[in-house]
Amino acid sequence: MSEGAFPIPENEARRLSVLADYNIMDSLPEQAYDDFVRLASAICGTPIALITLLDEQRQWFKANIGLDANQTPRSQAFCAHAIMNPDDVMTVEDATADQRFAANPLVTGDPGIRFYAGAPLVAPTGEALGTLCVIDRQPRKLTESQREALEILSRQVVVQLELRRSIDTLEQAVLDQEKYVELMQEYQRDIEKIRVHLESQSVTDVLTGAQNRRSFDLRLEEECMRAQSRHTTVSLIMIDVDTFKRYNDDFGHPAGDEVLRGVAHLLKSELRVSDHLFRYGGEEFAVILPDTTCKGAFVLGERFRRAVQRAPWPKRAISISLGVAATDSNTTTPKDLLNAADRALYQAKQNGRNRVIMASDETR
Ligand code: GH3
Ligand code: MG
Ligand code: MG
Repeated sequence: MSEGAFPIPENEARRLSVLADYNIMDSLPEQAYDDFVRLASAICGTPIALITLLDEQRQWFKANIGLDANQTPRSQAFCAHAIMNPDDVMTVEDATADQRFAANPLVTGDPGIRFYAGAPLVAPTGEALGTLCVIDRQPRKLTESQREALEILSRQVVVQLELRRSIDTLEQAVLDQEKYVELMQEYQRDIEKIRVHLESQSVTDVLTGAQNRRSFDLRLEEECMRAQSRHTTVSLIMIDVDTFKRYNDDFGHPAGDEVLRGVAHLLKSELRVSDHLFRYGGEEFAVILPDTTCKGAFVLGERFRRAVQRAPWPKRAISISLGVAATDSNTTTPKDLLNAADRALYQAKQNGRNRVIMASDETR
């Protein structure tokens, strides 16, 4: 064989891929493998014992006793020959008398190999990955039981390799799982952020289709400012469904929801284009009427009240109470206007429900 060449097993490509799967090349020393070479050296009585693994160009020592190196070129490796026969322990009693090795630098120079015996490390799928080998600087023979012990140990090295890979795989699975959980949590946080953002941007109440409370606050502020700067009047009607708790108690919450939807629908149908309907909360609605006097709002409120009272409700009659207020010299801020309309609404309830009260009439 020419300088730099070495024999190559038929299954070399698969052998290399199986070896790579073990993810062991250039790993740190491990006690289990060190123990195997100590045992091999003690049993065979050699100063040198190695666990070698052969990749494309080199043999690398996973464990090493008695040799001052951690790898050699594959072309100098006795083991490159040993792996050609996965089922046999290869024995070279005197390397100087073997034409394959007589000129090998490891024979002619340091460490001066004479004796070599290598038991292939054979993967469960049949590929020889390297060897457990013993080496001496003088010629010798192995006894039958030493040879057998070397074989047994080589099988145990492979068991150890398998175990190591299983642990790796498990650890990786745990890591993957943790990463996956983290990723999912991140997604959930993102989705929640988007949901909160969308909610904060939304203007509509889902149940009734009226504008929501957030829109009400913004619009009332805006209309009050506009009324003040243009010296016009903005009116507000607060609307509350009468004895609605009992309706829920008698017919259930879903039936109550239907009523809220129905009331919103009726109010909308009476609205003028410039007016805005809001669900203020629970069973309360609000209507903001720009450029509308308190009297004008009262008239619209009466239309609301009648429309609800006359509607053909499925379970029993529904009525609403309404409080009407408008901006004037004493009532300018949204808070003033809201308080005034609220007080009027309270008065409507006090006076027997199913009626409209104007803030200025409250005391009547
Ligand atoms: P009042 O005539 O004095 O207004 O009596 P009321 O029973 O309507 O007043 P109260 O404030 O005691 O009850 C309001 C009820 O409205 C209580 C709650 O169960 C119901 N409610 C609030 N929001 C909803 C909703 O979204 N759906 C349904 N079905 N009921 C609601
Ligand atoms: Mg209420
Ligand atoms: Mg009510």
